Amino acid sequence: MSPSIAAKDSTADLVAADVVATTSSIAARLAATAGETDAKRSFPRENIKLLGEKGLMGMLLPEKLGGLNASALAFARSVQIIGGSCASTGMVFVMHCCAVETIFRHQPGQEKLLRQAAAGEHLSTLACSERGSGANFYASASTSRQTACGIELNGAKSFVTSGALADSYVVSLRALGSESSINTTLYVLEKDTPGMEFSGQWDGLGLRGNSSIVMNLKDCPVAEPGTSQVGAQGQGFEIEMSTILPRFLLGTAAVYNGIAEAAMSASIEHVKLRELTHTGEKLNALPVMRNKIARMKVAVAASVALMHAAARSWDESGAADLVSLLEVKQMACRTAVDVATLALETCGGIAYSGALPIERHLRDAQAGVVMAPTSDMLLDLIGRAALDMPLM
Ligand SMILES: Cc1cc2nc3c(=O)[nH]c(=O)nc-3n(C[C@H](O)[C@H](O)[C@H](O)COP(=O)(O)OP(=O)(O)OC[C@H]3O[C@@H](n4cnc5c(N)ncnc54)[C@H](O)[C@@H]3O)c2cc1C
Repeated sequence: MSPSIAAKDSTADLVAADVVATTSSIAARLAATAGETDAKRSFPRENIKLLGEKGLMGMLLPEKLGGLNASALAFARSVQIIGGSCASTGMVFVMHCCAVETIFRHQPGQEKLLRQAAAGEHLSTLACSERGSGANFYASASTSRQTACGIELNGAKSFVTSGALADSYVVSLRALGSESSINTTLYVLEKDTPGMEFSGQWDGLGLRGNSSIVMNLKDCPVAEPGTSQVGAQGQGFEIEMSTILPRFLLGTAAVYNGIAEAAMSASIEHVKLRELTHTGEKLNALPVMRNKIARMKVAVAASVALMHAAARSWDESGAADLVSLLEVKQMACRTAVDVATLALETCGGIAYSGALPIERHLRDAQAGVVMAPTSDMLLDLIGRAALDMPLM
């Protein structure tokens, strides 16, 4: 199967330009509801609908399924725009793209679902993390067992983005009969699967529109493994590492670079307009402001350049370089927190008060660091690679 993240010829470049231009054309509309989504903790349903109407929900899928077959670079640039406009929308979108791509590559019987996804009529997501294994998302205590009627799934998943609101979920569980937490199998479960329930509500500091909640699976029947099982029994870990992780790292980095860029832009705008009445000078008359803005500019430029370089290399070689992508996510998540913090300092009490979007950007930025692979894990892995040690 040819990789859908691979643009080498001029036709593909044209498609890439179209994908980014289409995303840019709706950025203002995506951003218009971001404040309300955050304040009300409401799921960004209208934004997802809009992405669907523009054909963007099938960004990585091949054209024969109605997708855009976007290159890694087009994906990264588009997701940066989406994440910068509304971070919650950005993360819901990235989870959807990773889930759909996983189904496309490893579940041949799901053409209808994939066509619906590309048409914006089906939202998918990932349910890998569990309370017990936490950030070690590839490890599962949830079980699958053979019964007379088929396979039954039991367990609980934590932080399921788009939880209770998606149309399908790519879920990881221990392979049939296995007692090893990393010998896993993936299943795609449709929203009305008996025994699948969601609990709680998302009260997180940021990404407040995400509905990242708990999924419970109780004797959940998989009557037809042929249409529900993704890949072979025991192939879950390999699929997570080869298909999900590279796209998740790139997509997440793009969201956080978008957040950093949005925080920087909001602070530049404020510094240009804010006048101190006792002197009649704008904030931009202060050298310290120019210093902070310059630091933000350089940090964002460096993080975006690293992301573009990794995406281009993926497109040109047809293969993702995992270590480069680990670096890309680490840098983007660090940059988002640093830049949003600088933006808040630059704009002062007004920014802290919530009158500007900057405090939202800062709260959203903090999620990247703790989303698996967390920054702690990324730095350990990057260090291992640098020291020629095995990653795991
Ligand atoms: C907003 C949000 C959305 C999410 N969406 C999804 C989703 O859609 N699907 C999904 O599957 N998951 C999702 N997650 C879950 C996420 O990927 C992590 O699994 C989760 O945040 C882990 O939280 P924890 O408190 O259990 O962390 P813990 O595992 O308890 O980690 C606590 C600290 O220990 C460190 N740590 C843990 N293990 C290691 C290690 N091996 N090496 C180095 N450091 C380590 C971590 O860096 C962290 O700082 C989401 C999380 C958030 C915050």
